[in-house]
Amino acid sequence: MSCHCSFVTLPKKKGFGFFSFFCYILSVEKTVLVYEKDESVIRFLKSFFRRRRYYTVHFFGEGKRSLGEEIEQKKPSVFMVNSPDILTQLQGLRISCPVIAIISGDQTKGIHAAIKSNVDCYLVMPFYEEELDHKLKTLIYRSSVIENLYRDKKDLETLLELTYLASSTLNPKEVLYLVVKKISEVLHATRCSMISVNLEEKRFARVLATFEDPTLTNLRLDLRKYPEISAALSSKKPVIIQDAQKNPIMKGVRELIAPLGIKSILVIPIFFREEVIGTMVLRMSRVHHSFSKREVDFCVALANAASNALYNAFLFQKLDRERGNLEKLSVTDYLTGVYNIRYFYSRLEEEFNRAERYHLPLSCVMMDIDYFKKVNDTYGHRVGDCVLRDFAQLVKRHTRKSDLFARYGGEEFILLLPQTPLDGAIVEARRLRKMITSTQFPHLGKGHTITASFGISGFPDEKIKHFDDLISLADNALYAAKRKGRDQIVVRSSA
Ligand code: GH3
Ligand code: MG
Ligand code: MG
Repeated sequence: MSCHCSFVTLPKKKGFGFFSFFCYILSVEKTVLVYEKDESVIRFLKSFFRRRRYYTVHFFGEGKRSLGEEIEQKKPSVFMVNSPDILTQLQGLRISCPVIAIISGDQTKGIHAAIKSNVDCYLVMPFYEEELDHKLKTLIYRSSVIENLYRDKKDLETLLELTYLASSTLNPKEVLYLVVKKISEVLHATRCSMISVNLEEKRFARVLATFEDPTLTNLRLDLRKYPEISAALSSKKPVIIQDAQKNPIMKGVRELIAPLGIKSILVIPIFFREEVIGTMVLRMSRVHHSFSKREVDFCVALANAASNALYNAFLFQKLDRERGNLEKLSVTDYLTGVYNIRYFYSRLEEEFNRAERYHLPLSCVMMDIDYFKKVNDTYGHRVGDCVLRDFAQLVKRHTRKSDLFARYGGEEFILLLPQTPLDGAIVEARRLRKMITSTQFPHLGKGHTITASFGISGFPDEKIKHFDDLISLADNALYAAKRKGRDQIVVRSSA
């Protein structure tokens, strides 16, 4: 070689200890950026890199771009430089790749400049080809290990943050939202949702939290439209769909999901005491994205961290449902399904106080089925029960939502009409009376209709000082209606 330095090729030795790891790293092409002006060195390096296809090399000398711009654009894995001036410039730049200084000319000055500028290593000319080969591999290996360590550190921090979140005392749904938000941010997912499943409701799952919409909760999913979720639930293993349009699992729903632009999907089952209680679903729309093993492992760890939050949300929901059922039960009459008298009294007191305070009218209609004993005697007590239920439901259906209809006891019912004066209550009672007499109750023989008697009272009334008075005046009127022959409406007389 016609160069002031001689380049020697050493005989091949056995592989390095990190050889297999290095092969893995070099499966992705590495870029080397070289600052060199010496033509003979450039020729040597070109020939060196030509025989090592896993590198892409870029040379630059007195180009238009600055050093910073060049590094920013090429994003090299290694930067090689043969210039004390450039080495000095490097100190001011925040350069993340390793730097090899090539020293030619004044060796003492060159080594001094290299050490001063904190380069990762230097090569003094002349040097062996194998030396450069070894330095490049070592530096790439080292920086990739460091990169991995940083990434693992970040993953661990995320995991720790999520574990802390999942065991926090916030509302479990809030926790789940924060979890999906964090995961979406870390993995750049287009969608990330937490889905809970319920043994009693096999065909459906519920979205408890999703990153796209913080307000969305409890959305019911028909699992037939989500074969990937069903597959994860039945196999109890992560399901990785790299291409939603090609994977056989998605065959039945391809057309359905095509407009959504989803490329890959990852579904991870979430366990609580060995039971699958839900899944974490990640959807990516990045065109070339495929899930790496590392991403899958990371998501499995995240899903495990979220399992407590999901289980808490599940318990919370169950408790909420049971509380709702209990509340409903405690205000409902067991036979007729309308409000019971206990609830009626609690609301009556409220409504009466409001009417008094704001000078609002308040009316009360009491009704009693006429000759109900005969129904029992003719058809038996069980049919009587059915008729009572039908009667109550019929009246309930024909009253306004703002009115309060309850079973007073036996075959007697009561209707409270807030903000309704006596006149309005009379119109209402007439309408109900007509509707009752014209109804054929299914459990009664053809042509057997029933009637009811009505007693009405209304506030304000000089005799009504307390809410009990409203009831007793309506009750008195009802008895008057009975005395007058039944199937009548009597309004409490102010006399
Ligand atoms: P009136 O026109 O005077 O109201 O006559 P009535 O037969 O309706 O009234 P009475 O007070 O004499 O009898 C009430 C009947 O209602 C007797 C009772 O067995 C029946 N009854 C009360 N509660 C229930 C119930 O929960 N189920 C059934 N099947 N019958 C009931
Ligand atoms: Mg009766
Ligand atoms: Mg009665």
